[in-house]
Amino acid sequence: MTDSTVIRLKKGRDRTGRFRHPWIFSGAIAAIDGNPQPGDIVRVVDSGGDFIGQGYYNPLSQIAVRILEFAEAAKIDGGWWDARIAESIARRRSIINSETNSCRLIYGEADFLPGLIVDLYADFLTVQFLTAGTERLKNEIVDSLTKQMKTEGIYERGDSPARKKEGLPQISKPLYGRLPPSGLTIRENGLSYEVDIIGGQKTGWYFDQRDNRLAVAEFSAGGTVLDCFSYSGGFSIAALTRGAAHSTLVDSSAAFLDQARRNLRLNHLPESKADFVNGDAFDYLRELQRDNRSFDLVILDPPKFAPTKNSLEKAMSGYKDINLLGLKLVRSGGYLATFSCSGAIDWQLFRTAVGWAAIDSGRKVQITHQMRQAPDHPVLFSFPQSEYLKGFLCRVE
Ligand code: SAH
Repeated sequence: MTDSTVIRLKKGRDRTGRFRHPWIFSGAIAAIDGNPQPGDIVRVVDSGGDFIGQGYYNPLSQIAVRILEFAEAAKIDGGWWDARIAESIARRRSIINSETNSCRLIYGEADFLPGLIVDLYADFLTVQFLTAGTERLKNEIVDSLTKQMKTEGIYERGDSPARKKEGLPQISKPLYGRLPPSGLTIRENGLSYEVDIIGGQKTGWYFDQRDNRLAVAEFSAGGTVLDCFSYSGGFSIAALTRGAAHSTLVDSSAAFLDQARRNLRLNHLPESKADFVNGDAFDYLRELQRDNRSFDLVILDPPKFAPTKNSLEKAMSGYKDINLLGLKLVRSGGYLATFSCSGAIDWQLFRTAVGWAAIDSGRKVQITHQMRQAPDHPVLFSFPQSEYLKGFLCRVE
C-alpha cells in the first residue's frame, strides 16, 4: 500500500474538493509523486498543495481517482469499509418490510462507496466491483457483507461494461455460500417475482422502478395495458393485480417473456389476462397502429438509447419515435407512462423528446406526474451522474 502517494491537480481543474465530486479525471492531474498501482490509495491535493481527499487510483481509467474520503485524518482500512457498508445498509431500513424483501443496498458513489454496487435478493446478494479499487478489496468486502447480513450466497455479476474501462475482465461467479436456485423469488410491494441473478438483465431485477410500478398501476384499473419493453413483467403484474383488465407485454427476449408468464402464475393471475409478444417494440407498435388498436395505458420503458454523450442525437430521435408510436395508441382519456434511463439525457432533454412526439401526434398531452428512480438509488447532489431514471405519466386527450 503506497499511502504516501500524492496526486497534485492542475490549477483550474482542482475545484473537486469544494464540490465534493468523487471523480478525478486523468486530464486534471498535474503531477504524481510516487508510482501508484491500480487500486492503491492516494492523497489528492489542489494546485496549491491543500488536501482535497483520499481515494483509490487507476492509471488505466479516465477516472484516475475516485475519492473515498474528504476527511484528511480518516484512515481507509478494513474498519472504514465495514462502517460505510453498515451505514448504507442501515439507510435501507425503511424500504425492507413485510411487503418488500429485496432492494439495492449499496449504490456506489451515491452511497459514498465508489465502484461498489450491492443488491439484496431475498436471502442472496449480488455484488458488482466496477473499479480496480473495489476489485482488489473483493475478499474484504465479501467478508464485511457476510458479517453484516444473513445471506445464503453472494454472486458476483462481473459483466458490466464499466469494468472494461477499468481494465477488468468480464467474469461472473459465486463468491460465497450456495448458488441461487433457478426459481429464486423476491417480494416487492406484496407481489412475487421470479428473478434470475445469474442470467438476467442488470443483476436480475429493475429495483429502480419499484415505486413507479405502483404509481402507474393506479391508472390502469378496469383498462387495457400495453407494456412495452416489459422484461419479466414488473409493470404488468403490478397493474393486473390492481384491477387492470388485460395487458399486452412486448419484449425482444423470449426468455424474459417466459419469465413474465411464470410471474403471472406466481401472483395467481390467469394467463387469459395477458398476451405476450416477442419482437421489436418499434415494429409491433406500428403494426398495432395499422390495425387501429388502442389501449387505456401505454407503458414505454426502453433500454438506454444513449449510453454516452456521443449518441445523444440518435437517442433523442429514438425517444421521439417510440413516444410518437406510443401516444398514437392511447385511447382518448387514457395515459402514457414513459421512461428514459439514459444518464446522458437529462430531464429537460427527455421532456423535449416527448414534447416533439406530443406535437407530431396531434393529441393533447398533459404531464400529470413525474417519476424517478426509487429511493434505494439515491441521487447525491455532489454526484449528478447518480441520477438517470426519468419518467412522465401523461394524460392523453
Ligand atoms: N420494464 C421492465 C424493465 C425493462 S428493461 C421492468 O419494469 O422490469 C428493457 C427491456 O427491453 C429488456 O427486457 C429488453 O429485452 C427489452 N428490449 C430491448 N430492445 C428492445 C426492442 N427493440 N423491442 C422490444 N424489447 C426490447
